[in-house]
Formats: sequence, structure tokens, C-alpha cells
Amino acid sequence: MTQTMPTIAAILLAGGTGSRMGGPIPKQFLPLKGQPIVQYSFDLFLSLPEISEIIVVCKPQFQTFFEKSPLKPIQFALPGKERQDSVASGFAHVSPSCEYVLIHDSARPLIQEEEVRKLIEEGLLIGAATLGVPMKYTVKEVDENGIVKKTLDRSRLYNIQTPQLLRRDILSKGLKKAQKQGLTLTDDVSLAELIHHPVKIVYGSDENLKITTPEDFEVAKQLVYV
Ligand code: C5P
Repeated sequence: MTQTMPTIAAILLAGGTGSRMGGPIPKQFLPLKGQPIVQYSFDLFLSLPEISEIIVVCKPQFQTFFEKSPLKPIQFALPGKERQDSVASGFAHVSPSCEYVLIHDSARPLIQEEEVRKLIEEGLLIGAATLGVPMKYTVKEVDENGIVKKTLDRSRLYNIQTPQLLRRDILSKGLKKAQKQGLTLTDDVSLAELIHHPVKIVYGSDENLKITTPEDFEVAKQLVYV
């Protein structure tokens, strides 16, 4: 019996203002080695046959950065106040036939095809998965006065990245619960955690960095190969 591949929609988040970066336009539209930061992941999702449609979340004035393609449907959604609101906005545009949703921060242009494939492979088995890398630093939890309460066990800590993959019903239930409880979560698999669905961490790469500051931008310039 041949198994059919479930349909996956990609939500590409490009609705942030990038205030920590400064500059006249949001960081995700700045050129990195000749092309806008956002284009790296957009082009990757266009080329991956596992992704059946792309929803770009961005302000209307930036829609011209994305060319329509004969390869797959592309839609636009308006950003919300917080990242989670932008995810909900993008999710509202996902086709009813899509069974899984892959969500990616456009501020991570160095994501590689193999990493997305690994994430999809493992995510389809469990319903919720994220890329992550083992924590390299010692992390301490502090009280409100900055006094250390405890040192966390580093061997059990991960730095979490995107993309993240969620089965449609898990994302939907998680978003509803977060909205009902007035919670604003900073990543998507937290929504699965909220409804007590297990989340798998798939080993990513340190190179999949998030461009947040001008220093990150300089590092990305060294790492990108076009
Ligand atoms: O703010 P943060 O750095 O966590 O943003 C991660 C990603 O989410 C970025 O790609 C940003 O453009 C996007 N974002 C969004 N809508 C918001 C806030 C952030 O699409 N309201």
C-alpha cells in the first residue's frame, strides 16, 4: 500500500517591525548578500515539494517583495500585534484541506533544506515538533531582584528555533486555549504544550541563527552562501 504525503502549509512570518535592528525598514526586508533576508526561506519553501502552499504574513506595502509563482499558491495575511496574533492571522488563510502547518520566522534566513525535511519527517510522526540545539551556556533562574534562585541542568536545555511543525487540530486548539486564557506565547509548539500534546525537538544547527541585532546581521553575512 502506498502512503500519501499529508499536505503541509507554510506560514512565513514577516510582520515584525524589527525595532532592535533599527533602520528604515523591518530587518527581514534588508538585503543580505544581494537579496532580502525574507527571500531565502520563501524560496526554500517554494522549492520544497512537501510544502503545498505558502502564507506570507506581512504588511501590505511589503507584499511586492514576494513574486507569485506557478509552483504553488501564495497568499498574504495581515500581521497582528504580537507574533502569536500573526500566526493566528496566517492560520486563518490556510486551506481547509491542509493537515499540517509549518511556521517559520523570516528572520532565520539560513535554514537549510535538510533541516526542514528532518523536522517534517519527525513532526508528522508525533504531531508537534521544532528544531532546536542543545544549550551551550549555563543558565540561571533569578528572582525579581536579579538574585539567583537556581542553576538549571544544562544537559536538559535546548535553544529553540523555527521552523516548527504542528498538526492542524493541535495548532487550532492551542491558539483557542491561549486566546481564552489571555496568554501570549513566543513560539508555536508552546501551543501544543498548552493542550498537553507532546513536542519533539529535532536537532537543528547553530547556523540557523535569528537575525535580531546588527551584530547578528554581520555574522549572517559571513555564513550565507548564495
Ligand atoms: O519578534 P520576534 O523576533 O520574536 O519575531 C519573530 C518573527 O515573527 C519575525 O520573523 C517577525 O517578522 C515575525 N513577527 C510577526 N508579527 C509580529 C511580531 C513578529 O510576523 N507581530
